[in-house]
Amino acid sequence: MTGAPGNLIGLDRNELADIVAGLGEAPFRVKQLWHWIYFRGVTDFANMTSLSGALREKLAASFNLDWPGVVRHQKSADGTMKWLLGMDQRHLVESVYIPQDDRGALCMSSQVGCTLTCRFCHTGTQRLVRNLEPGEIVGQFMLARDTLDEWPAPVDGRRMLSNIVMMGMGEPLYNFDNVKTALSIIMDPEGIALSRRRITLSTAGVVPMMKRCGEELGVDLAVSLHAVNDDVRTRLVPLNRKYPIGDLLDACRAYPGAGNARRITFEYVMLKDVNDSDADARELVRLLKGIPAKVNLIPFNAWPGAPFECSPARRIASFAGIVNDGGYSAPVRRPRGRDIMAACGQLKSDTVKMARSAMTSAPPPAS
Ligand code: SAH
Repeated sequence: MTGAPGNLIGLDRNELADIVAGLGEAPFRVKQLWHWIYFRGVTDFANMTSLSGALREKLAASFNLDWPGVVRHQKSADGTMKWLLGMDQRHLVESVYIPQDDRGALCMSSQVGCTLTCRFCHTGTQRLVRNLEPGEIVGQFMLARDTLDEWPAPVDGRRMLSNIVMMGMGEPLYNFDNVKTALSIIMDPEGIALSRRRITLSTAGVVPMMKRCGEELGVDLAVSLHAVNDDVRTRLVPLNRKYPIGDLLDACRAYPGAGNARRITFEYVMLKDVNDSDADARELVRLLKGIPAKVNLIPFNAWPGAPFECSPARRIASFAGIVNDGGYSAPVRRPRGRDIMAACGQLKSDTVKMARSAMTSAPPPAS
C-alpha cells in the first residue's frame, strides 16, 4: 500500500538523498533512482539495471515502490475511467480519467472524503476524512499512466494522459503541503515532467492559501464559486461564512501569474431555481469585472438523496448567453462518466465494503 512504511514513492529528492546516503551510496544514485521510479515507472528494484546488484538488494530489503491498491476499476460508455483505490485498510479514494480526442485529464483526489460539506456535493456527505500523503497523490497519477501504457513515453510521443485537475475528493488547499510535494514530484523535469500549465487546482475558496498556491506551485487555479451573493453561497458552500465572496474575489485578483493568457476558471454548478436566473448571470458578469476569468457551467450531477435538481437545458443556455455577452467564455460542461458515478460531485468512497485481498495487491510491475 502507498502509505506503508518504506515506500519511496512520494519522497522528495532531499528525502531520497538521505536514504541513499544512509545506505552508504554516492549522491548520483538519487538521479538514477528518480529516473527509474518516475520516468520509467518501474516498481521492482530488481529491474533497475543501471544500479549495482548490491544496491538493488539493499533497497529491496528495506523499501518498496507500491502504488495504491486498485479495489475497483470501472469504464464508462463514454470512455471515462474511475478507480477506487485503497490507501490503507480503512481509507478509500477515487480518481477519474477523462479522455478527449487527442489528450486527457486525470481528476485526482487530495483527501479521503472532505470536511467542507458543500450541500450539492456527494463527497461532502462522507464521514471518514483524512489528508492524503504525497505518495498517495502521486500514486494516483502513476497508476493512470500505467493503465494507459504510457511509461516511459507513448510510441508516437503523444500522451493521452496529458493534464491533471485537482478536482477529485477533498479540498487541496486544506492539504497544501502534501499536495505541493506531490505536484512538485509530478512536475520534476527528470521524471514525470508534467508542466505546471497542464495542472489545474480547484478550491472551494480557502482564501489564505491561494497566494502560496500561485507562488509556490504556479499551477492554474479554478474556484468553485456557484453563487453570486453571500446568502446563497453560504447555503451551498458553508466555507463562505469564513471567506465570503468579496474576499475570495480579491484573492483571485491577486493570484500570482493570472493574466489574459492564464485565466482563472470559475466553476458554477447549475441548480434549478437556486442560482440560475438571468439576474444571477448578470450579477456574475458584474462580480468578475477586472478578473481574467472564464466560467465553467456545470450541470448539476445528481446522486442518491441529493436535495437539488439540475437546471433545465434552456435555462442553462440563457445563463451562458448572458455571461458570454458580458465578455466571458462560459462553456457548458458535458457531464462525463455519469453512468459510473464518476462525474463532478459524485465521488464518494466510504460505502463500499472492500475485500482484504484487493487492498493488498499492488498492480503488476510496469517493466
Ligand atoms: N474542494 C475543491 C475540489 C473539488 S472540485 C473545490 O471545491 O473546488 C469538484 C468540483 O465539482 C467543484 O467545483 C464542485 O463544486 C463541483 N461539484 C460538486 N458536486 C457537484 C455536483 N453534484 N454536480 C456538479 N458539480 C459538482
